[in-house]
Amino acid sequence: MKAHDGMYIDGAWRPAAGQDAIEVVNPADEQVIGRVPAGTAEDVDTAVRAARAALPGWAATPPAERAARLAALRDVLVARKDEIAETVTAELGSPLKFSQNVHAAVPIAVAGSYAELAAAYAFEEKVGNSTVHHEPIGVVGAITPWNYPLHQIVAKAAPALAAGCTVVLKPAEDTPLVAQLFAEAVHEAGVPAGVFNLVTGLGPVAGQALAEHPDIDLVSFTGSTAVGRQIGATAGAAVKKVALELGGKSANVILPSADLAKAVNVGVANVMSNSGQTCSAWTRMLVHREQYEEAVELAATAAAKYGERIGPVVSAKQQQRVRGYIEKGVAEGARLVAGGAEPPRAQGYFVAPTVFADVAPDMTIAQEEIFGPVLSIIRYEDEDDALRIANGTAYGLAGAVWAGDQPEAVAFARRMDTGQVDINGGRFNPLAPFGGYKQSGVGRELGAHGLAEYLQTKSLQF
Ligand code: NAD
Repeated sequence: MKAHDGMYIDGAWRPAAGQDAIEVVNPADEQVIGRVPAGTAEDVDTAVRAARAALPGWAATPPAERAARLAALRDVLVARKDEIAETVTAELGSPLKFSQNVHAAVPIAVAGSYAELAAAYAFEEKVGNSTVHHEPIGVVGAITPWNYPLHQIVAKAAPALAAGCTVVLKPAEDTPLVAQLFAEAVHEAGVPAGVFNLVTGLGPVAGQALAEHPDIDLVSFTGSTAVGRQIGATAGAAVKKVALELGGKSANVILPSADLAKAVNVGVANVMSNSGQTCSAWTRMLVHREQYEEAVELAATAAAKYGERIGPVVSAKQQQRVRGYIEKGVAEGARLVAGGAEPPRAQGYFVAPTVFADVAPDMTIAQEEIFGPVLSIIRYEDEDDALRIANGTAYGLAGAVWAGDQPEAVAFARRMDTGQVDINGGRFNPLAPFGGYKQSGVGRELGAHGLAEYLQTKSLQF
């Protein structure tokens, strides 16, 4: 794998301030596939200065020209989609087909959507005797995780650039290679120097320096709730805007009138895809007591089929974490019906597709985000009980409802405390706002709502 030994700052690859490096490991075979520099506060400062210097020019660039650069960026991503897929497979471990269909394809769709939105968005509106200007918020510090490494970068960088903001990105340390590829794509697309900058490095060093930098106007963070809380507190103390996309523990509610086999099979596929490392995954399946045993059997059979196809989790640390949760599930009395804590292969950070039945709503595995291929099936008595369980966690990122007819599913979905609900298996929509209720976050990404996060209003009265 190709790796740069510098930082992309002010339109060029520049040597890092320090000598330290981060090794990138392929989680499927545990081999080191590259090294990237471990940035310091000094690198972050250089990048923020570049972004600040580029801000007036980019903010004043007509939206149509910003849209043209984003369209060019989308075209470069399209031209390099195979390389993107191979890079994500190498550093994240996801099967190549999934990398092609999701890790490469979704960012292309999102970049394309912002090329269109930048051109069409009403950056100016009339309200009575006022003209309201929607202006870029300024210099954005973007901090992203590893689970959808390019999507999470594009979901921040594309709307920020569309809005007229400039960006400093600190990507996850486990997946920095696709971030470097993205910086190359930005360069090839002709985005002016300093508008987008990349600093690779460790979270508590480079990430923290970026979040705390006084010359950043907005911190946009995706990652764990623990780090998000810390970033929110830092931003609050500095009276700085913050956007947080955090964890989830979503409920897949199967109402008695639903097509049970379909709901269970799609539900298992949802949890197992990307080896369970999806913040919006429906990791709690809620089934009526009369259909419970049938659902458990269906889920165990469906999970077993993923045994051969599932990729590893991202790192040895993540594998240990997930195995710990599986052991905890057994210790707390849940019934293991598929998989288990034993690694299915001697090499690589694999975890067996795991299904627990007889999970009580307050068990650790039903409350905490596991971020691995682990499904908990919970029994409910009636609809009110199902709703209480569905809403009974600290999170509220996503969910699903299945019912015999759409209005019944929609009525239930409207009572859920969560930011996204898929009705009877509704498809992902890259234009729909994505983000959390409760401790799943603050703010929204994607589409016009995602663009609005990077704008502030100025009202002129006449
Ligand atoms: P993480 O919070 O440890 O890391 C995320 C990013 O923050 C990384 O770039 C990391 O280097 C950086 N970071 C770590 N410590 C930091 C600090 N003290 N200051 C500043 N930056 C710091 O999370 P992770 O383990 O990489 O990712 C998994 C988590 O992300 C899961 O909890 C998952 O639910 C969540 N997630 C949420 C969404 C969403 O959209 N809501 C999407 C993907 C992942």
